[in-house]
Amino acid sequence: MTAASAVANVLSFDLEHWHTATLLRDVVTDRTDRIDESVTVVTDLLDEHDVRATFFTVGEVAREYPAVVADLAADGHEIASHGHTHTPLYELDEATFERELALSTDAIRDVTGERPIGFRAPNFSVGPRTRWAFDALDAAAFRYDSSLFPVRTPMYGVSGAPIRPYALRQVRPFVGDGDVEEVDSFLEFPLAVFNPSFRLPIAGGFYARMLPVGVLKRGIRSLNRRGIPATLYFHPWEFNPAVVTNGIAPHKRFVSFHGIERLEGKLDALLDSFVFDSVQGVIDRHGW
Ligand SMILES: [Zn+2]
Repeated sequence: MTAASAVANVLSFDLEHWHTATLLRDVVTDRTDRIDESVTVVTDLLDEHDVRATFFTVGEVAREYPAVVADLAADGHEIASHGHTHTPLYELDEATFERELALSTDAIRDVTGERPIGFRAPNFSVGPRTRWAFDALDAAAFRYDSSLFPVRTPMYGVSGAPIRPYALRQVRPFVGDGDVEEVDSFLEFPLAVFNPSFRLPIAGGFYARMLPVGVLKRGIRSLNRRGIPATLYFHPWEFNPAVVTNGIAPHKRFVSFHGIERLEGKLDALLDSFVFDSVQGVIDRHGW
């Protein structure tokens, strides 16, 4: 055992309909949900390793598949909010976002009996233009957000944002503007990047499907060596090759589906090598 292996990393899944993913929602015609079969692949793997995770769940999915979400909660997984309709925040304003939060909170509470304390924006869509999200989350009694990708990518991300979990009151994620310092004791769990000078995303999803598992391991280890938990995200549908769709633009097909048949083996290898827990579990372990 090394010191790095003692750091508990965050394992999370965004539980949404695969056909509402940002790159797919306007182009796929087969909208078969595949929620149950996809979630089962993930929960079998988690059970095998006795690991708890956070499922950032779309409110509409909780309404449509209450038994799936209730089973996850009963197995000790954390159910957090991924919005109500999986609409990126840049397509909402503060008022409609507050309504999304309220609807998703009610949907999750009706299924689990508990209100969610965590949030992840669809398509990591919290940035300087949607900074009002933090005030809305804080006002709605959320405890943490996990939407900030601390590297700029073609679709999302905030370059220069901190890479370790932090309280928003203490650190400014948006360079040059201190507005978010007003938010008190609200935590941010940024998605994992490898090497702060270059910031290669290793957080999961497309990056985990594309990169060799050895690179993912080196990245997580480099964070853990500095005492930083890596926050990883996946989608249950990324473990289900049945969602692979032909007849869409090559780049959308590549980003959405490349490596989907090997992801289960990669996550299995990561679960063998590192300690993982839900966001709530990591907060509790650290006493944050
Ligand atoms: Zn999503």
